[in-house]
This record gives sequence, structure tokens and C-alpha cells, in this order.
Amino acid sequence: MHIQYPKQIESCLKELNQKYEAVLVGGCVRDALLGRKIKDYDLATSATPEQVKDVFKRYTTFDSGIKHGTVTVVVDLQPVEITTYRIESGYSDSRHPDTIEYTTDLKKDCMRRDFTMNAICMRPDGDLVDYFDGQKDIENKLIRCVGDAKERFYEDALRIMRAIRFSATLGFEIEPETKAALFEERQNLRKISMERFIQEFLKIVVAENFDELLVEYLDVFSVMIPELKQLSEIPDVWSKIIEDLHNAPAVLTYRLALIFLHLSRFNADKIIPMHSASTFLMLAKRLRINNEITGTVARFIQNSQIELVADKVLVKKRLNQFGDSFFDYLGFRKAYDLHDDVYDKISKQVSDIIGRQECFSLKQLAINGSDLKQLGYSGTKISSTLNQCLLWVIEGQVDNNKYKILDKLNESKGRN
Ligand code: ATP
Ligand code: MG
Repeated sequence: MHIQYPKQIESCLKELNQKYEAVLVGGCVRDALLGRKIKDYDLATSATPEQVKDVFKRYTTFDSGIKHGTVTVVVDLQPVEITTYRIESGYSDSRHPDTIEYTTDLKKDCMRRDFTMNAICMRPDGDLVDYFDGQKDIENKLIRCVGDAKERFYEDALRIMRAIRFSATLGFEIEPETKAALFEERQNLRKISMERFIQEFLKIVVAENFDELLVEYLDVFSVMIPELKQLSEIPDVWSKIIEDLHNAPAVLTYRLALIFLHLSRFNADKIIPMHSASTFLMLAKRLRINNEITGTVARFIQNSQIELVADKVLVKKRLNQFGDSFFDYLGFRKAYDLHDDVYDKISKQVSDIIGRQECFSLKQLAINGSDLKQLGYSGTKISSTLNQCLLWVIEGQVDNNKYKILDKLNESKGRN
């Protein structure tokens, strides 16, 4: 087979192979066999990290992951990661090997790898080294552990999540024995860090068929997110979640909101008009979901029940409230409860409002704070009065014209 790989990878392989053995392995070989875009190239070598540094002594090198035997060499300003063949053993904590040992035996390095499709190596001349029939599994679209699946999932429970994630992104089945082992060993997920777990989980959430995966692997995900199990025990809530996920676009924040907005309702034990985001905020903190995603999802949840109809005044109010993120919010509401025709009408109104530069925000209002100061306003009265004027303009009670607004203000003062 031939992979068209970047020049810096080619020169590293060449240099190392003059004295030692070096191959491409893992995701790049798998993705090349699948005709998928290659993300990164992993080089494995029989040379020890010291020997690697010696081969590349004329280049900049650094110990990027020396604990795992990885050295980074900078070639043509590009970093190339080179990892020494290694044997891992121990795993008494289901997350780190107790010991790692370098080896010059390529097969032993392949034995520590997670799945057969990830243990195929390619030599610089294009020859494949495939000790565990990875190519056959790729042909049959199967994810299969290298060696005894139960043992491999016990050693490092992250592999459980990786198996599900690869099946989601590649559209592969998990081979039955591997799948059974994944369920049996699922409690070991507690031993890995939340960061490693959630990173894989979030990749699964945006999979095309996440609704099906959530149903199938509920017992796995619930080890770390027991809230999912709780939601699944309320039939009408659960069926709404699965249906929404089935129809929703693959947007992470939409999907998280569609699941977790039901948590506050559930906790309150009755349907409340405004879904509070605080339950989600606590959960997101525990799950180590980053602040940006958390903030967006919390905003969706908090506003999941507010009135949204194709009424121009209301749409302007929402535009003022949400600013640039309005379309994003509208997309979420479409995924949650808005009918397609209402969504289409609102979208059209938004483009009209923006196209005609109609006023919906203080920035666009024809008067500002200093106008009011000149009239003797001060302190919080300025902003409350500006907002009052904006409301008049949005509601069509007055044109967005400085003098007309000031007139109206005078008039209303006279009345008070
Ligand atoms: P991608 O980068 O597309 O997510 P990948 O297979 O390249 O997939 P990496 O995390 O980059 O995944 O790992 C590179 C290789 O290291 C894998 O192909 C596999 O051989 C090995 N590997 C990674 N994580 C593990 C693990 N937890 N247990 C065993 N082997 C692993
Ligand atoms: Mg990779």
C-alpha cells in the first residue's frame, strides 16, 4: 500500500531506518486503509529515546512524552512524534501501566495497542505488518480488542469509551466478545479521570446516530453520569429526549441541552414553567465540561420555555435579549419544540429586521445616555429610561428618531 505522507515524516522514517527500525502505526495507517483523511502520524521505532535524539542530533528535539518513550523532532518547522516500541504491564489501577519497558520487538509494541485496526504498521516501502488481522477487521467493519478483551478493558477503561467512539465515528460494529467485555468491565470507568472520560463522551454525543448509541450504551455512560439512568426511568421524558436527539443536528450544545434540560424538571418533581439551569451547571462542573460549552448549554436550558412565536415585536425583543447568539438559540428551539414553519417565519423576520436595519438594540436607538444627561437624568435612571424608549421603538409606539423619542418622553413625563 502507498500512503502519500508529508516530507518530514518520510525523512524521519528514512533516517531512523538506516540504523534502527521505524514504522508508521495506529490511526494514520487505519485511516489510510479506510481512505479517510489522516489527522496525525505516529511513528514507532526500535531506537530508544536517547538513540532517537542521537539520530536527530542536528535537529531540535525535545522530550515531549518521555515517560511513554516519546521524543518530538522538529523537521522543516514541523513537529514529528517518535515513540520507542514498548511493553506495558501492571495496570493495577485501571488507568496507568505500573511499568513500561522498551523493546526492539515490534510485535510486543503492537500487543499493547487497543484494537486490531489500530495495531497495523506500515514500513517506509509501503509493506504492512499486521500481527492481529486488523485489515480483515477493517474490511468487516469490526472493532476488536487486541488479545483478551476483558483484560484489556480492565487494564485501561478508557478503551471502553474509545471502542464506542470509534464505532460511532467509523460506523463500525463492536465485535460481540469485545462488546460483552465492555459491558462487564464498565465499572472500571470510575478509575479513569473525568477529563479522559468526558473527552470521549463528547465526541460520541455528536455522532450521527447518538440517539441509538445512548440507548445501547446507557449502562456504560451511566457509570459516570448516573443522571442519564435517572432520566431513562421516566418514560415520557426519555422518549422525548431520544426523539429530539434523533432529529437534532449534530451540534454538541443543542444535544447536551436537549438531554439535560429535563433534569431540573425532574428534580423539581413537577413541571415548572422556567427550566432552571442550575442543576446542569452543577453537573457540568462535575463532568469538567469547559466553560464555553457549559455557558451556552445553560443559556439554552434557562430559556427553553420562553415565548417564541413569529411576531415581529417579540422577535425584536428576543434579538435584543440574545444579540449575536439569537440564531444559535433559534436552532436549539427548533430542535426542541419549535415547528419548522414557525422557525422559517421567524428566520425570515430576522433577516428582514436586519436587512432593513430596524432598531432592536440600545446601540441602534436614536438617543443615547448623553442625550438624557443633558436633560438632567443621572444614575440608573439613564439606563432604565433608555430601555423604556427602546421598548417604545420596538413596539412601534414611536419612530426611531431622536426628536420624536424626546417628545414622547416629555409627553409621558407630563402624564406621570
Ligand atoms: P484518532 O487520533 O483518530 O482519535 P488514533 O487511533 O490515532 O485515533 P490516538 O489517541 O492518536 O488514537 O492514539 C494513537 C495510537 O495509540 C492508537 O491507534 C493505538 O494504537 C494506541 N492507543 C491510544 N490510546 C490507547 C489506549 N488507551 N490503549 C491502548 N492503545 C492506545
Ligand atoms: Mg491519532
